[in-house]
Amino acid sequence: MRTAFPDFRLGAVLATSFTGTLSERHGDAVERIPTPHRLVDWLAVYGLTVESCTTAQLDLARELRESIHTAATAAAIQDALPASAVQAINDCSVQGQAAVILTPEGKRQWRLSSASCVEDALGVIAADAISIIAGERDGSLALCASPTCRAAFFDTSRSRTRRWCDMNTCGNRQKKARFAANQRKNAGSSE
Ligand SMILES: [Zn+2]
Repeated sequence: MRTAFPDFRLGAVLATSFTGTLSERHGDAVERIPTPHRLVDWLAVYGLTVESCTTAQLDLARELRESIHTAATAAAIQDALPASAVQAINDCSVQGQAAVILTPEGKRQWRLSSASCVEDALGVIAADAISIIAGERDGSLALCASPTCRAAFFDTSRSRTRRWCDMNTCGNRQKKARFAANQRKNAGSSE
């Protein structure tokens, strides 16, 4: 079945998966949360279930997303963090009132203050971004090697040598491009 909206690119890290909802930032950018409903869908995937989302809340979410992208990119290249991005992330973190609870099965679950509180979900994402930008977690921020992507991603590989934000998309495409270039080179040299 064809879907009217671009698929999500789901990663293991909440904050950088969120920034990945706008992909190919340096190419033909793809907006993966084009409507409030798609943000609701995305949040549900990460256990941040809200019943509804307004256009204003979607705007706020996108503002947070771009602020995380800007701050994470600066952190990845060891640049100073832009003050406006830090402010926007902090505002979202302070505003959110989500509580973390432990289920009887021993799983972590988020409880939002109300079912329409997208701000609570954004607070959780902001806190996640803070933990990776501040270097609190095992891993380091890096930029995707794809020139049309350059997404900031959280590299948790032991050697910290991951090159792509996502192996299935950017990594694969690069591999295919290299293969095609080699084919051309080989074809050229056999003439
Ligand atoms: Zn990428």
